[in-house]
Amino acid sequence: MIIGSHVQMKAPLFLEGSVKEALSYNANALMLYTGAPQNTRRREISDMRVKEAQELMKANGIPMEHMIIHAPYIINPANSVKPEVAELAVEFLQKEILRTHEIGARYLVLHPGSYTTADLDTGIETAIRQLNAVKDIPDDVVICLETMAGKGSEIGFRFEHLARILAGLEQPEHSGVCLDTCHIHDAGYHVEDFDAVLDEFDKVIGLSRLHVIHLNDSKNKEGARKDRHANLGQGEIGFETLYKVASNPRVEKIPKILETPWIGNKPPYKEEIAMLRENRYDPSLLKE
Ligand code: FE
Ligand code: FE
Ligand code: ZN
Repeated sequence: MIIGSHVQMKAPLFLEGSVKEALSYNANALMLYTGAPQNTRRREISDMRVKEAQELMKANGIPMEHMIIHAPYIINPANSVKPEVAELAVEFLQKEILRTHEIGARYLVLHPGSYTTADLDTGIETAIRQLNAVKDIPDDVVICLETMAGKGSEIGFRFEHLARILAGLEQPEHSGVCLDTCHIHDAGYHVEDFDAVLDEFDKVIGLSRLHVIHLNDSKNKEGARKDRHANLGQGEIGFETLYKVASNPRVEKIPKILETPWIGNKPPYKEEIAMLRENRYDPSLLKE
C-alpha cells in the first residue's frame, strides 16, 4: 500500500524534515506545500535541503514520485472576475511548477478554482485559458487537477468538468487528476461502490490520468457539497469504504495521501496509516 499524509515543511530542516516526519508515520508517500498555503511567499529552493531530502527518500526506498507537492489554495485559475487574481495564478503556478521540478517531485496538485460571481462554464473556460498561459513545464512535472466538493462556486466537482479542462489543455502529457474521497463524496459520488466510481472516472476522464488519491473521511452527508474532512472511520464515508479505496488493486500504484484533521495538537497519521495497513479500525487510537 502506498500511503502517506500531508506533512509540514518548516525551518530548520525544511524538506528533509518533511521526509523525516513521513518516516515517523511509517509512510511511503507524503505531500507538502512549498510554503504557507494561504500566501505566495516562498523560500529559495537552495535553502530547502533538497539533496538531504532526496537522499533520505532513497535510503528508505521511497521513489521521488511519492513526494507530492500541493499548490497553495489561493491560486484561482477559474477567476474571470478579477483579472489580477488570474494573472497571479499564472505567475505563481509557473514558479511552483519549476519549484516542483527543482525539488525532484513529479506531481503538483492544483485546485481548479472557483468562478466567484461568473458562472460554471465561464469558470471552466477561464481555467483552461489560464492553465494554457503557463508555458514552461519541465518534462517530468504533471499538474494534477483535484476533484472538488462543489462548495460555493467551485468548479471541478463533476468528472465531466475536469475532462473538459483536460481536453482544452495544450500540453496534455503534463496534466492529470487527483481524486479526493471527501470531495467526491460531498459532490454526490457514492464512494462505497468505489469500483463503480472508478468505472465512471475511466469512462469520463480515463483512469490513466489518475495520479494521486486524497484519502479522507467526510463530516457531511453524500452530496452535501461542503468539504469538511474527518478522521478515518469518524465520518459519513466510514473506515470500511476507505480501506476498500486504499486497497483497490486498480489504484494500487497510486499514492494515497491523508489530509484528515489533527486531533487536539497531534497529527493522527501514524495511527491512521497503521489502521489501513492492518485493515483494523480502532477508534480509541483517534482520541485526544
Ligand atoms: Fe487539495
Ligand atoms: Fe484534497
Ligand atoms: Zn478538502
